[in-house]
Amino acid sequence: MEAEANSGSLEDSWAFIQRPGEGCRTVPLAGHVGFDSLPDQLVNKSVSQGFCFNILCVGETGLGKSTLMDTLFNTKFEGEPATHTQPGVQLRSNTYDLQESNVGLKLTIVSTVGFGDQINKEDSYKPIVEFIDAQFEAYLQEELKIRRVLHAYHDSRIHACLYFIAPTGHSLKSLDLVTMKKLDSKVNIIPIIAKSDAISKSELTKFKIKITSELVSNGVQIYQFPTDDESVAEINGTMNAHLPFAVIGSTEELKIGNKMMKARQYPWGTVQVENEAHCDFVKLREMLIRVNMEDLREQTHSRHYELYRRCKLEEMGFQDTDPDSKPFSLQETYEAKRNEFLGELQKKEEEMRQMFVQRVKEKEAELKEAEKELHEKFDRLKKLHQDEKKKLEDKKKSLDDEVNAFKQRKTAAELLQSQSSQAGGSQTLKRDKEKKNLGFL
Ligand code: GDP
Repeated sequence: MEAEANSGSLEDSWAFIQRPGEGCRTVPLAGHVGFDSLPDQLVNKSVSQGFCFNILCVGETGLGKSTLMDTLFNTKFEGEPATHTQPGVQLRSNTYDLQESNVGLKLTIVSTVGFGDQINKEDSYKPIVEFIDAQFEAYLQEELKIRRVLHAYHDSRIHACLYFIAPTGHSLKSLDLVTMKKLDSKVNIIPIIAKSDAISKSELTKFKIKITSELVSNGVQIYQFPTDDESVAEINGTMNAHLPFAVIGSTEELKIGNKMMKARQYPWGTVQVENEAHCDFVKLREMLIRVNMEDLREQTHSRHYELYRRCKLEEMGFQDTDPDSKPFSLQETYEAKRNEFLGELQKKEEEMRQMFVQRVKEKEAELKEAEKELHEKFDRLKKLHQDEKKKLEDKKKSLDDEVNAFKQRKTAAELLQSQSSQAGGSQTLKRDKEKKNLGFL
């Protein structure tokens, strides 16, 4: 009896740890337990934490990006209008705390300043890609921290990229195609035709078709409103067919009939922003904010960030399986990477050592060569010096000989002179005697 009861409870615990879909049993409840309140608990928790949503507006200066943001969120976001004289593309990010009923939204609007204003637009997409990657990297760094605080972390990853297309009525510019192609694996792109009041209804229809076919033929993946959730499948399916939305922005309110409405007034008439016969603004607001905001956040995390994270971790050497397709734990990956690193370090050290020995040998040989040259030079100079010395000694000797010969000649001359002067003196004496004798004296 006891054994039976035990085996029963063991079975239950096995059933408990089995994965869903792998023979998990459905057990009827005898009464109300209370976990049906889980969705409410989740809602309450989310509401108390608040939400964050980050929009990136990409488009040429003056296409109405700021105006559309003001119109969408029914407020006036402060900000300096951008000039057309920027040397390059810059991303300007502003965060605002918004509150609607009891729901708080931390909204970040990132705008591309100077986009499309340079003569050479080749690298215009780069700062945008770098910005998106930098937000992914910041999140990844937070995730990899030992003490991470993701619930308090301000998630700055871009959830939606509104790509503003100029209402040319022709085709997409190459700048638009290149930029969208570079961004499509990193962010949810929602293309919109800006200032669509500048284009006629028939031209707009053709323009939309042209844009869609160009996006398809160039393999640009734009965000598709999800159709897997039954509650929104129909509306999302219909809206996907309306992409790209043709929008008009205005914060100006005009009295139309007896109602105040957002509109743009022209000499020939008034265009109403929220009139679906005039433009797709309402469709955009509905899709972006009221129906799919959570899906955009979800897609950012599960698709775009996941891709970034996977590539980054693979780049760092992390793998889920080893070459034999066996699971590879983080510890093993770390050990393998560490060994690889140590091996490389040793190799580098050995290379450095050999290079050092080689350099020392070269230097030694150079010094020996220099020493030999110095010795040779010294010997040459020594010999030169000896030759010079010998020459000087010879010269000195000949001069000494000359001096001696001169001295001898001088002595002989002096002797002769003294003899002759003596001889001269005795004659004068004799002549004086003779003169005396003669009586002259
Ligand atoms: P940004 O540089 O892209 O942020 O463009 P702005 O929002 O500063 O708008 C530039 C100019 O275009 C302003 O004079 C706006 O009033 C005007 N503008 C904005 N949206 C529209 C629109 O939908 N249609 C028309 N015709 N003009 C618009």
